[in-house]
Amino acid sequence: MAKKQGTSTSVRDALRVRAGGAIPHAPRDTPVGPSSKVEAAAGLVGTGAELAGLQEALWAEGTFGGGERSVLLVLQGMDTSGKGGTIEHVFGLMNPQGVRVASFKKPTPTEKRNHFLWRIRKQVPAAGLIGVFDRSHYEDVLVVRVDELVPPAKWEPRYDEINEFEAELAAAGTTVVKCFLNISAEEQRERLLARLETPEKQWKYNPSDLDVRAKWGDYEQAYADVLDRCSTEDAPWYAIPADRKWYRNWAIAQILLETLRDLDPKLPEPAYDVAAELKRLKKNDPLLAGAAE
Ligand code: AMP
Ligand code: MG
Repeated sequence: MAKKQGTSTSVRDALRVRAGGAIPHAPRDTPVGPSSKVEAAAGLVGTGAELAGLQEALWAEGTFGGGERSVLLVLQGMDTSGKGGTIEHVFGLMNPQGVRVASFKKPTPTEKRNHFLWRIRKQVPAAGLIGVFDRSHYEDVLVVRVDELVPPAKWEPRYDEINEFEAELAAAGTTVVKCFLNISAEEQRERLLARLETPEKQWKYNPSDLDVRAKWGDYEQAYADVLDRCSTEDAPWYAIPADRKWYRNWAIAQILLETLRDLDPKLPEPAYDVAAELKRLKKNDPLLAGAAE
């Protein structure tokens, strides 16, 4: 059967993780939208223009219009799944002034002494901004659980805490969108090989990447629990088929676009008399004394 083409099917509907937490599509699938790199690139052009316009409106609304809304995109996935590539390609379409990227690494000693959400709260996007998390609070139930960095009694309650935290964000005007970049173990192998074999990519490789890779099954289990327990009405998870970079970029751009279309941000109304100001400039430009038109 021919699959649906174009964007008529909501990408959010197609990729959303529903009750039970099952991942709806395999890493190499292209369930909605383009089925080739060329098609995806063509689609991204129009999407980029519309995204940029909506982002500017959100920014203007939040910065000048007294609006309180913002968007937070959480990116999670195994090494090489494309968190950085998504930021480069999807956010490259927008005005950097309105975007805030936060990357969460191994916690510093100070961060470790604080509650796990402490460093996260500091990076929640202010009104008008689109925040992007490259890794996130979910590491505290992923790597922390797999590597047993704290005992189960400590990480177990975090799923509920995370749900409460995200509900709080939603109530305060932040639309939370979470994307799990779903790559296969085979594709990760190819990407790690490429990192090692390409001098310009070698800086991205870390010898510990192979130790993490060895725990693939444990991470699958930990991700399954995240998707099962933390895909909520307030803050849904989307599972992005991510073996093909062009599909990943297209899908995430589309999900953001659908989200911003729903928010429908409005450019603020001028707080001055436009006609009067035009008249002033045309008839009384202070630099063109006597210039009458
Ligand atoms: P990268 O994203 O490749 O720069 O790597 C960042 C590293 O920081 C990854 O190995 C993560 O697992 C690790 N990391 C991020 N957050 C935490 C956390 N809360 N606890 C422990 N390790 C973390
Ligand atoms: Mg890495």
